[in-house]
Amino acid sequence: MNNDVLQQLANILGKGDILTGAAVAAYEFPWETHSECRARAIVFPRSTEQVAAVLKLCNQLRQPVVPFGGTTNLVQGCATSDDDIVLSLARMNEIEQLDVAERTLTAQAGMTMQAAQEAAAAAGLYFPLDIGARSNCTLGGIVSTNAGGTKVIRYGMTRDSVLGLEVVLADGTVLTSMNRFIKNNSGFDLKQMFVGSEGVLGIVTRVVFRLASKPTTQHVALLAADSFEKVVEMLAVAQGALPGTLTGFEVMWNSFYERAVVPRGRLPAPIEPGACCYVLIESMGTDTAHDQSAFEALLETLIDEELIVDGVMAKSDREQADIWAIRDEVEPVLKQAHNFDVSLRSADAGKYLEALVRKIPQRVSNSEVVGFGHLGDNNLHVSVQLADHSAEQVRTVEEIVYDELRPFNGAISAEHGIGIEKRAYLHVTRSDAEIALMEKLKRTLDPNNILNPGKIVSIT
Ligand SMILES: Cc1cc2nc3c(=O)[nH]c(=O)nc-3n(C[C@H](O)[C@H](O)[C@H](O)COP(=O)(O)OP(=O)(O)OC[C@H]3O[C@@H](n4cnc5c(N)ncnc54)[C@H](O)[C@@H]3O)c2cc1C
Repeated sequence: MNNDVLQQLANILGKGDILTGAAVAAYEFPWETHSECRARAIVFPRSTEQVAAVLKLCNQLRQPVVPFGGTTNLVQGCATSDDDIVLSLARMNEIEQLDVAERTLTAQAGMTMQAAQEAAAAAGLYFPLDIGARSNCTLGGIVSTNAGGTKVIRYGMTRDSVLGLEVVLADGTVLTSMNRFIKNNSGFDLKQMFVGSEGVLGIVTRVVFRLASKPTTQHVALLAADSFEKVVEMLAVAQGALPGTLTGFEVMWNSFYERAVVPRGRLPAPIEPGACCYVLIESMGTDTAHDQSAFEALLETLIDEELIVDGVMAKSDREQADIWAIRDEVEPVLKQAHNFDVSLRSADAGKYLEALVRKIPQRVSNSEVVGFGHLGDNNLHVSVQLADHSAEQVRTVEEIVYDELRPFNGAISAEHGIGIEKRAYLHVTRSDAEIALMEKLKRTLDPNNILNPGKIVSIT
């Protein structure tokens, strides 16, 4: 049967659009949380029709299929076994339409976020999402994870910018729902069921994104505070002072900042490490005179109210990029760590992190807790540096991280999703009834459990 599947797949696809054997193992993941790729084959369809034909065949043969976008997810959402077929959207990466008047971008799901950002900018518009993995992550991937990122405080999550979708269901049915309107209440908004569903309900092949006005002003400052309580006050002041133009409020505890900048890290330090917390504040707008004075007035208020102990405002594009580079310097933090992505009330994030900093090293030797995140969106990233990544140590860390979250009614995933990594803890955030409905939806749409099996929920 093995060769039979491969032969039938080859009949569907173009020459060179299927990899097998050693070529599968040689597949390069851009982000090394994955080990070697294991799969029966990797297929690269070039059209929705080919995706539909592949799924129809695989469904008939009960053949598991794992969708690959840019494979930058951080929750083992693209984990595979030797028996899987990988379906990569990499060769479906064309823009179909950029409608300037209607401010929409219609594209195939394999297009990268960066390519979408550049296309929107070239048309005088703005793609409303940004994340550090922008050069690799794809439109289908960010839709399937409902990605957040650094502009959520202004533009919302991916879900908020998706107007239309085309999805291929497990049996090969093509669900074309390429709505382009801001308002469309014609029955159920089915696309929202697929946003954030991590490839377990269908494969996204095309997307309509809503674009925003291109900002013409940008102001960035890096500020240091001597307590987390002051950071929370800063957030409230910034939200009041920059209505509609606050685009970033990123917090980095010193444990993150000192790993990014010299002497411990590699980037120049615009302000000295060693304070409690560092905050990157960004505003973007279209009113040159007003935006600059509003941003400067905010900084003066923060100084007058003694909410900051140090700070620098970027005076050029280069200095802005240098400050953002510090926040994007996640590799030294994420690579050796077990990483978490929780959400809770912004005001509770300090107390929560303090509890982890105290409790994890008590039970796990040679560990250190690093905190950073998109505080304006209630989103805290916790990276627990571990010398020993054994299953037992990892489980101990996970139990502490999620047990401590319960009193705050927090969520186990703010933006990265569940994948395999967080499936066992879904009940911390979701009720039995919610999980049962997720399982029912999965069984209904994919009764043979061929689509990304084992991710989010297990229905075996
Ligand atoms: C340096 C770095 C920074 C990051 N920063 C952020 C951040 O700020 N915010 C954030 O939210 N995330 C962040 N991430 C996580 C990651 O970038 C996002 O989850 C992103 O949305 C994944 O996109 P992708 O194309 O790489 O998807 P993949 O990793 O390929 O796939 C993600 C999931 O969706 C499925 N899938 C992929 N494509 C499709 C499709 N077309 N149809 C159906 N299912 C599909 C996959 O099977 C998998 O389950 C970061 C990751 C890195 C490495």
